Amino acid sequence: MNSASEQHFLAGKHIIVAGGGIGALSFCIAFHRLLDDKIQLPPSITIYERDTAIDAVGREGYSLSIRGDAFSGGMQTLQKLGILDEMIAVSNPGDYFTLFDKDFSPLVQFRTPPVEGLPQSSMRIARSKLREVLIKNLPPSVIMNWGNAVKSAHELDNGQISIDLADGSQEICDLLIVADGSNSVIRRALRPEHTLNFIGVTSILARTHALDKLPAPLEQTYGGAIGGDGHFAFVASSDQTSALWSVSYLCDTPREAKSAGTMNDDEIDAVLAEARERTKVFSEPIHTLVNETLRSSVTIFNAKDIVPFRNHGSVIFIGDAQHAMSPFAGNGANMAIMDGYQLADQLIHAKDLNTAVRLYDDLSIPRSKRAIDISHRSITIGHSQGLWKYMWVGIARILGWYFGLSYRDEQELN
Ligand SMILES: Cc1cc2nc3c(=O)[nH]c(=O)nc-3n(C[C@H](O)[C@H](O)[C@H](O)COP(=O)(O)OP(=O)(O)OC[C@H]3O[C@@H](n4cnc5c(N)ncnc54)[C@H](O)[C@@H]3O)c2cc1C
Repeated sequence: MNSASEQHFLAGKHIIVAGGGIGALSFCIAFHRLLDDKIQLPPSITIYERDTAIDAVGREGYSLSIRGDAFSGGMQTLQKLGILDEMIAVSNPGDYFTLFDKDFSPLVQFRTPPVEGLPQSSMRIARSKLREVLIKNLPPSVIMNWGNAVKSAHELDNGQISIDLADGSQEICDLLIVADGSNSVIRRALRPEHTLNFIGVTSILARTHALDKLPAPLEQTYGGAIGGDGHFAFVASSDQTSALWSVSYLCDTPREAKSAGTMNDDEIDAVLAEARERTKVFSEPIHTLVNETLRSSVTIFNAKDIVPFRNHGSVIFIGDAQHAMSPFAGNGANMAIMDGYQLADQLIHAKDLNTAVRLYDDLSIPRSKRAIDISHRSITIGHSQGLWKYMWVGIARILGWYFGLSYRDEQELN
């Protein structure tokens, strides 16, 4: 901690944040909230974001579960940022996770009473809504540049960092916070040894158009169904009126990934036909959801993650840029929110930059490693076949208990 007479190591400095997603925005809000009068001449903060402002609050995209269990901590962190109630007000129906059998009858329901001080233990929220609330709460002192991606970064001999921007300009800063997501271009430029690894699962994912009514059980819960034939289906509310579905399967090599909106009509027809074939063992609601698909949302992705790595110097990686995890973790956004908060906290309160970065890594790396390990176990459980399925369901219960997601079975709930 700096004494009143010492100047804070960030006083009068310039911080650039690459990316204006979940981790980046959480960092900026937390930094402003925790600043108090700890730094006499607070650093200036500038964000460069690839998306345009319209993309960021658009209706496209998926939904996320934000959790308040023992180690996910997204709900608690949003509360510390003073924006939890605002988030809950725009969240989706169906706020707890259920592991289903192939007929969508519950095998395990993960419901916990909220930890003290939280109004509810978790929420499901459209990513665009979560981001909209974060953007609304961005401190006015933070300069947000939309539609200007960071193309590359160079560490200079004097410890500063030079960045090249998509509009052709260059900027120099004292600290670069890299929050540009799982495919981070800055990670590729500065830490090329840390690469994304395919973890042996491919998913077809899409959302529906707006529905008159969300099919059961999505008003109450979201979750995954074990087909028992190697397929895992996931269903959730996507926003207040539409739903998200996916079907995944194990494979040795990744297939060609397709982002939403990049396939022609014939390709979309072929992928939807494949999804129908892959979901044939499941009961409703998956068939209705596939039939009601918003065609422009159909996506094929290969699940990937990265071994979380430690930071050094004046370039600090957070969120997916530091510890990308697949959607099977259901925790990457929770981790990014906590990263933003904990990095701000350490930068403000530590005695120097090296200590702040070390203490931040000591917090972020173990919890993100754990989230990645759990995602690998979830993948094994979700895609298990035959009798293995029942063994894994038992293990899921034990893991749920171990990781603080105490379960109730259907009988107990009735
Ligand atoms: C289908 C799906 C479901 C998921 N479900 C969940 C869930 O239920 N719960 C959960 O906790 N997590 C979930 N996740 C994971 C979660 O979305 C991510 O882990 C989280 O968004 C990571 O936050 P971030 O801030 O690190 O990156 P992002 O939120 O991805 O933000 C990165 C930002 O950087 C911008 N950017 C990229 N490149 C550049 C550049 N060169 N220059 C400037 N800006 C750039 C991007 O436009 C983006 O705004 C899911 C992910 C997917 C794909």
